[in-house]
Amino acid sequence: MSKDFLKGAQDEYDVVVIGSGLAGLTAANTLAKAGNRVLLCEQHYQLGGMASWFKRRGGHIFDISLHGFPIGMIKSCRRYWTPEIADSIVQLKHIRFDNPMFALSTTFDRQDFTRILREQFGLDEATIGGFFDAARRMNFYDDQEMTVRELFDRHFPGREDVIRLLMEPITYANGSTLEDPAVSYGIVFSNFMSKGVYTFEGGTDRLVGLMRDEMIANGVDLRIRCDVEKIHVGPRGVEGVTVNGRRIKTRAVVSNSNLKATVLRLVGEEHWDPAFVEQTKAVRLNNSSCQVYMALRPGEMIDESCGDLLFSSTAPLFRTESLLSRDIKSRTYSFYYPRTRPGSDRCLVVSSTNARYEDWAQLDDEAYQASKADLIETTLAAIEAYVPDIRAKVEHVEASTPTTFEHYTRHIAGASFGTKFEGLAVSRAIPEQIPGLFHAGSVGIIMSGWLGAVNYGVIVANDVDAHLLKTSKRPSAPATV
Ligand SMILES: Cc1cc2nc3c(=O)[nH]c(=O)nc-3n(C[C@H](O)[C@H](O)[C@H](O)COP(=O)(O)OP(=O)(O)OC[C@H]3O[C@@H](n4cnc5c(N)ncnc54)[C@H](O)[C@@H]3O)c2cc1C
Repeated sequence: MSKDFLKGAQDEYDVVVIGSGLAGLTAANTLAKAGNRVLLCEQHYQLGGMASWFKRRGGHIFDISLHGFPIGMIKSCRRYWTPEIADSIVQLKHIRFDNPMFALSTTFDRQDFTRILREQFGLDEATIGGFFDAARRMNFYDDQEMTVRELFDRHFPGREDVIRLLMEPITYANGSTLEDPAVSYGIVFSNFMSKGVYTFEGGTDRLVGLMRDEMIANGVDLRIRCDVEKIHVGPRGVEGVTVNGRRIKTRAVVSNSNLKATVLRLVGEEHWDPAFVEQTKAVRLNNSSCQVYMALRPGEMIDESCGDLLFSSTAPLFRTESLLSRDIKSRTYSFYYPRTRPGSDRCLVVSSTNARYEDWAQLDDEAYQASKADLIETTLAAIEAYVPDIRAKVEHVEASTPTTFEHYTRHIAGASFGTKFEGLAVSRAIPEQIPGLFHAGSVGIIMSGWLGAVNYGVIVANDVDAHLLKTSKRPSAPATV
């Protein structure tokens, strides 16, 4: 008989959280700390969602999405998680760019970028300051018509090199493009520019392990291999979920699952206003990614002059299309030195590229394996420019593709950063349509990435807490739809 991963679970909870991405984990923890009975169901055998890792023979541990996040993560983790988690966040001080237009090294903050833009790109202080101030001033309520391309054209007309410096890392960080609203770029760029790029010392496995301990201490009922098949909705709103074939009652659900999957699959079209269904269908997904993971033999080192993060490209210009192309010209390398995991003697490299789901999903098995082998081979050839003896040092290499991300996280089309910007309005409007149902997870540029996901988890937990308070004080009050 197969194992019952819900053994001992209650028949009813105050809240069920679907998914253990950083938004789901943070929402669950915040709600449990506020005194609610919380069940968290994760379909995978590991917590973390995209904030994930995997182990391979020989003691190699690869991080999937631990490449860099803004300093705000320290404050969010101190406030909503634990001091131990916050104190493990450290700066990556050596960010490099290497492309046909320029090669440079930076700490990736406003001061250093100002220096570079002045000395290497020949811009004057007023122009540079004007751009930084405009980006900093942007907020959610701004005009969302202006695109990133228009923002750049306003401040740096004709300067493709400047655009590349300012845009390439953000595209890598969250899949945004020159066609996206400028406001979303401005907020994320300014977050990074305030103090640079940060990482978690000890790896994603340590972070998620610490989060798991904290959630257990706060009373969250954590369940892995628990696939939520259905969210049940009645005339007053959310009534429960079916998970691994078992129905569990609840007054509130936080779905950390993909936004479109939540609305269209887990709830079903019949429960929504038809206009809302159309609005959801019109939300565009973000692109996906390919990664190549390379582990060096124990004790083999990479010179730290390679940098922590290296944005490398052989494309003459920065273009979204070329970033997504299967003919890969741009790669971002994360170099993990032994200091990433104190006490280890390992160096690893992860090469990441943006990718289109269709380019991989349509391949038959043989073509898929051949394409993966080609991805590995071309990546090894490309990284030889920076680590000439990589092939002699490497002990394990493998690759992931958009279908890998789809498989492990259930994101439609393997979207690395959920949906485009318009997803946020749909995500926020869900409880207005179905009382008690909330969504917290990657939507748009601001509410994705590690920091965005954690912060969105907190915002939604507060909404849920208010809903629970309201409905428990007045249990018979009619739900407003
Ligand atoms: C290759 C790559 C590199 C990245 N690099 C960075 C980076 O350097 N910095 C950064 O800040 N961000 C990075 N990100 C993005 C970041 O990892 C994500 O934005 C963030 O972790 C998403 O969190 P989330 O809360 O939206 O949930 P997700 O991580 O999307 O997790 C959702 C969870 O829900 C579960 N689930 C879905 N449906 C069900 C169901 N029906 N029942 C039960 N469980 C379900 C899934 O299994 C998954 O665990 C990267 C992402 C990728 C793919």
